[in-house]
Amino acid sequence: SELWQNVPLAPPDSIFKLTAAYKADTFEQKINLGVGAYRDDNDKPWVLPVVRKAEEIILNSVALDHEYLPITGLPEFTVAAAKLILGSDSTALSQGRVTSVQTISGTGANHLGALFLSRFYQFAENKEIYLSDPTWANHPAIFNNVGIAPVYYPYYDPKTIGLNYDGFISSLKSAPSGSIFLIHACAHNPTGVDPTREQWGAIADIMLEKEHYGFFDCAYQGFASGDLDNDAWAVRFFVDKGVKMLVCQSFAKNAGLYGERVGALHIVSPTKEAAERVKSQLSVLQRSEISNPPTYGARIVTLILNNTSLFSEWKRDISTMAGRIIDMRKELHKILTEELHTPGNWDHIVNQIGMFSFTGITPEQSKALTEKAHIYLTVNGRISMTGLNRNNIRYFATSLDAAVR
Ligand code: PMP
Repeated sequence: SELWQNVPLAPPDSIFKLTAAYKADTFEQKINLGVGAYRDDNDKPWVLPVVRKAEEIILNSVALDHEYLPITGLPEFTVAAAKLILGSDSTALSQGRVTSVQTISGTGANHLGALFLSRFYQFAENKEIYLSDPTWANHPAIFNNVGIAPVYYPYYDPKTIGLNYDGFISSLKSAPSGSIFLIHACAHNPTGVDPTREQWGAIADIMLEKEHYGFFDCAYQGFASGDLDNDAWAVRFFVDKGVKMLVCQSFAKNAGLYGERVGALHIVSPTKEAAERVKSQLSVLQRSEISNPPTYGARIVTLILNNTSLFSEWKRDISTMAGRIIDMRKELHKILTEELHTPGNWDHIVNQIGMFSFTGITPEQSKALTEKAHIYLTVNGRISMTGLNRNNIRYFATSLDAAVR
């Protein structure tokens, strides 16, 4: 037979397909609520002013060259990134128990973490990982790629449009001891539903008791509440409690560096010596996959994290983005409940957190929004809050109102 004849044609990625359909649409009031990237109030991508400043410094720095970075990344970057997520007063850090490796953004951190576990973790029974139902569409693919089978724990309750806390807890309790649970550190994608601090406490207790391993994915630090420390709370809490875990970190959203692919994987070990052994193996794995991580974005983030005035400016930029999203949540909630008296309860719009909101509408209603109103969203009813702005929110609210009546 002909070469590649047995290669099946794969369907296009649903999010990128949605964007293409949006772009091809000529309707003036069309809205794209699929994309997971920040847009300003004029629906434009936003280069953070602090990033522009850092770029200028880099551009004018004659000392910088284009040599390879070390295999595990720019050391000033990984050290500062670890402090950002784990806290500068982290005991695990001061005890030298954390291995940090620069990765190809959050996706690369997930992949490297998954690859490491597939090689070295002593799996309870089967080689599997518990993912939240639902989760980021890439998670199952990333684990399947390295031979770890995704299984699911209940997370979202369609009846309350909130957390299925009891389902989550009973899954933690019934899973074999030493199971791996993937946990969204904050701003759960796609639901926008996070556990409360009290609930996190109970989750951590069971994880300790059952010796489960926490695979924390943190793609939205600062983006959820507008506060970097607040959004890292769960991660720091679990590390302090002594839950066995790793953290995947991305600077795509909070620094608006999507295409630069800046991220890190942090593996917390019981001892400094174990952390060194882990580091040696992560270097071997990274070497065969990417050899050396990219310099540009890591340099930008390093400047921002290590310079007091740039760091303060970054925090302001982050609260600009998070604040606009929170404003849109309030505005949408207000129009639906106070002006349009849309049937149903819409409190979840303001209670959910981060870039996404699960509206709770049916796939049919979601399709109707796209077909009749030219509003593009995933059929599960997830909307990216950053696609809303002062100019289109009223059109969106009225269309949503019409779709659910
Ligand atoms: N994890 C989750 C839950 C995400 O939503 C994303 C971004 N969509 C990522 C990881 C990684 O994104 P990136 O590779 O762009 O950092």
